[in-house]
Amino acid sequence: MLRILPRWSIHPFAKTYVAGESVEETVLVVKKVNNLGFTCTLDILGEHVQSGAESENITQEYCDLYDVIANENLDCNISIKLTHIGLALDKNIAAENLVRILRQAKLHSNFCRIDMEDSPYTQRTIDLYKDCVSKYPNMGIVLQAYLKRSLEDARNLNRPGFNTRVCKGIYDERETIALKDRAAIQNNFFNITKEILSGNGFAAIATHDIPLIDRIDEWIESTQVSLDRFEFQVLYGVPMSGRLERLLNKGYTVRQYVPFGRDWFNYSLRRLKENPKIISYVLGNLFKR
Ligand SMILES: Cc1cc2nc3c(=O)[nH]c(=O)nc-3n(C[C@H](O)[C@H](O)[C@H](O)COP(=O)(O)OP(=O)(O)OC[C@H]3O[C@@H](n4cnc5c(N)ncnc54)[C@H](O)[C@@H]3O)c2cc1C
Repeated sequence: MLRILPRWSIHPFAKTYVAGESVEETVLVVKKVNNLGFTCTLDILGEHVQSGAESENITQEYCDLYDVIANENLDCNISIKLTHIGLALDKNIAAENLVRILRQAKLHSNFCRIDMEDSPYTQRTIDLYKDCVSKYPNMGIVLQAYLKRSLEDARNLNRPGFNTRVCKGIYDERETIALKDRAAIQNNFFNITKEILSGNGFAAIATHDIPLIDRIDEWIESTQVSLDRFEFQVLYGVPMSGRLERLLNKGYTVRQYVPFGRDWFNYSLRRLKENPKIISYVLGNLFKR
């Protein structure tokens, strides 16, 4: 059903979750979000480029974005998907493009996080991260709590300077490699976060699951983890019932993940699948027109 909805019917919904199509629109949104006390991470929407030339264009767009962030004085870093810069075509293409982006991030004393995609790319993503991090420590990775391997990955990677986002994971993975039970995923999320914060790493705790945020927050308080060892992250536009402001009031860093770009349609469909209640709004929009 979602696939046959016309683009215009999704557009009003997309505006909640996507900053815009252009860099100019996105800068305005980031300034607004910064003014509310949140830091941001920008993502150019899209994945799985079809050619080396396309991957180079996207890489250039990311490099230019670091210039914009610096010129506009935004409190903001960047998240990228490796298949957006060529990982599905050739690991070497992705590696070259990644290094270009990391160099640009370093030039601006900024940071780059590699999002984690579906499981065929997990090991390749970790390998590329390991290849680059000693030369470019201004980078981070993501661990998905639904993957059975992630706690072990956290243990292996957890050295000084290790910076990972922990999220539940958004792709449809096989039961042989992924937890399916909600409580088991929450527990794994909690354990991965504890593993990182009990060691030397930095954890970016990315979830809208308020009971899980509460549980992690209580543990952070009880163990007195210092404020520079973690941050909370949410997707731009997801309603959080005032919980984010309470995190800010405790002096925590809270980062909003702000996607933008021409590929807003597919991203918005994914968000709709996560929150089907909103479909009634989209359908209403369809019929009201
Ligand atoms: C900052 C950030 C970065 C991420 N990066 C990655 C990544 O690199 N790789 C990856 O696989 N996944 C990533 N994700 C997605 C993540 O893995 C989850 O699929 C997604 O966040 C939903 O899980 P949840 O932890 O919010 O819990 P859920 O249990 O799914 O949601 C908790 C509550 O939030 C509501 N909610 C969740 N999402 C939405 C939404 N979009 N709109 C409205 N309400 C919503 C739910 O309805 C529910 O009430 C990221 C998520 C965040 C917040």
